[in-house]
Amino acid sequence: MDLSVIVPCYNESDSLPHFLEAAARDFNASGLSVELILVNDGSADNTQDIIDDFVASGAMPHVCSVKFSRNFGKEASMLAGLRESTGDVCSFIDADLQQLPSTLLEMYARLTADDTYDVVCAYQEERKGGMRAWLSGRFYGVFNRMSSIQLEPNASDFRVFRRVVADSLLAMPEYHRFTKGLFSWVGFETLAVPYTPEQREGGESKWSVRSLLRYALGGMVSFSTAPLRLSMAIGSITALVGMAYLFVLLIDTVVLRNTPSGYPTLLAVMLILGGMILLSLGIIGQYLGRIYIESKRRPIYIAASVVRADDGQVRKLPPRTNEAHFSQTPLS
Ligand code: UDP
Ligand code: MG
Repeated sequence: MDLSVIVPCYNESDSLPHFLEAAARDFNASGLSVELILVNDGSADNTQDIIDDFVASGAMPHVCSVKFSRNFGKEASMLAGLRESTGDVCSFIDADLQQLPSTLLEMYARLTADDTYDVVCAYQEERKGGMRAWLSGRFYGVFNRMSSIQLEPNASDFRVFRRVVADSLLAMPEYHRFTKGLFSWVGFETLAVPYTPEQREGGESKWSVRSLLRYALGGMVSFSTAPLRLSMAIGSITALVGMAYLFVLLIDTVVLRNTPSGYPTLLAVMLILGGMILLSLGIIGQYLGRIYIESKRRPIYIAASVVRADDGQVRKLPPRTNEAHFSQTPLS
């Protein structure tokens, strides 16, 4: 298999038919042996029917359909796709035609033309203005300052990469996955190419500003312990300021013989300190929560069914998680 194309799909019934049409056209014409891996991330609409029809139609020689037991998120879908992939080169692409299969093939050509690179990553050249673009710009700045790994600003999950990179990603068992960070962490030579996302073909983006904020916070907590040091720094600074202030008060009462007015200053200091203590606790809580969830070692996703179609032969595979097939290791 030359190329595995991994497509996470969540409630994509409006855009998926258009995507599949474009994918079948472009990948069949490419002359490569391409495997299309469609991961249905617990869609509530008829995304699965569309996928089933596509598998049955034989429009592409190699198709794999993975159906999650519920919505596990895009990161889990990408991991499931990687687990099922068999290609020498793997790739991620969205199901909404904001990223075109033809662009993916160009990226594949760039990757295979040059031995020096192991990853070709598309980054959004221009972001549409507005709150989101501003926030995500800030995110990359803060992330890169805080963490020891560096992210390509405006990098997307739209990437084409060699088997070694895919296996390296699979070797990372963490529950809280932040694929852009994982790509930086595993390293390898990366070629960044600009692209302009198309209009969404149908449906709407699954990201609200709130979910983006949560995603950004999760990414930072996953790849940096700087926030923990931040609370230490804030604590030391306030303690120093407090001591200096106490000294000033002493001079004021003992030497200058002024009676200090107590309660406004006390209230202010109490509020500030209380706020900082809660902030620090919150930061620690973020990490503690992560440790708690990671220590349960739950599977990252549950694939209720996996179907592979190769050259007209359709095989139904047993349900599985990222770690095991259920038929071999039953859940106890
Ligand atoms: N997606 C997914 N699970 C989710 C949310 C999104 O698999 O919980 C998929 C979605 O179907 C799409 C891709 O991730 O193929 C990107 O989602 P979206 O277009 O909403 O994000 P945007 O392009 O706005 O960043
Ligand atoms: Mg999109």
